[in-house]
Amino acid sequence: MQAAGKVKVAIVGGGVCGLSCAIALAKEGVPVDVFEAAAQFGEIGAGIGFGPNAVRVLQDIGILDDVLAKCEEPEINQRSFLFYSGMEGHELIYDYPVQPNDLGLGLHRASFLDALQGAQGMTLTSTHHHKRCTTVIHAEATGRPIIHFEDGTTHEADVVLGADGIKSAVRTAVIGDVARKAVVYSNTNCYRGLVPIEEIRAAGVVTDLLRRPVCFVGLDKHLILFPIKKGTVINVVAFTTDRSSPMGTKPRPDDEPWVVSVSQEELLHEYKD
Ligand SMILES: Cc1cc2nc3c(=O)[nH]c(=O)nc-3n(C[C@H](O)[C@H](O)[C@H](O)COP(=O)(O)OP(=O)(O)OC[C@H]3O[C@@H](n4cnc5c(N)ncnc54)[C@H](O)[C@@H]3O)c2cc1C
Repeated sequence: MQAAGKVKVAIVGGGVCGLSCAIALAKEGVPVDVFEAAAQFGEIGAGIGFGPNAVRVLQDIGILDDVLAKCEEPEINQRSFLFYSGMEGHELIYDYPVQPNDLGLGLHRASFLDALQGAQGMTLTSTHHHKRCTTVIHAEATGRPIIHFEDGTTHEADVVLGADGIKSAVRTAVIGDVARKAVVYSNTNCYRGLVPIEEIRAAGVVTDLLRRPVCFVGLDKHLILFPIKKGTVINVVAFTTDRSSPMGTKPRPDDEPWVVSVSQEELLHEYKD
């Protein structure tokens, strides 16, 4: 067993989990290399809601204040969801019970990733972009894992952590194709967007969207809304589920992009009722 400072850790994937893990390890003096497929760390400019457990992780790894500052949020302030009917009248269906200190947080996703990259621990971390892992193979001589990348290069480490998302190449290297096959399309799409609170008010919405995260529930559709950026912007996520075929029967080819830009008309059409 090597001393913590000598262990070479490599993380594949620089998303929410990969970067948080890199910071936590670096704070313990463990140097980390992060290998990210994309040209830069990034996310589409929607929001991300943190439950109280995730807020506690940010606190524990010592980056909560940085995150709040970078994301222009004054404090942890979000209680759990209020559920309203999405149909005319919008009566309150359910008020999620919550403990007094169990507060969450709504953040701008890209600002959150910026905050992770700028966090103190990241200075001890080497990050490498354009590095798409294809597989991880154990070296015959040493038994150490070697990461193979699409560009033909390799990287050897003592420990490789897979944080490369739902289509993880690392997971496949560890347990085979079974994981990929187990991921089925849930027949649900969601539309994400950010809307200034003034535009929402001008459109005649009277529901208070600043006090609590809100979920409007409808038949095979629901909308999730929560404020970010000190309540100036509302993160909107609109879900639609197609029940014309059973869940898991529609193929979802790996090479098809899962996130695409669409017109506002498409969303309005989906929600015409
Ligand atoms: C619409 C939507 C809304 C959501 N809202 C919330 C929310 O409000 N709150 C919440 O807690 N969660 C939410 N989630 C879930 C959350 O986004 C995921 O749980 C989280 O992103 C998973 O983080 P991750 O780091 O494991 O993977 P990802 O965020 O997917 O990051 C994986 C990273 O690995 C990189 N990568 C992929 N393949 C490779 C490869 N082969 N080699 C190298 N790099 C690779 C990718 O480019 C990416 O940067 C939401 C998810 C969706 C789809």
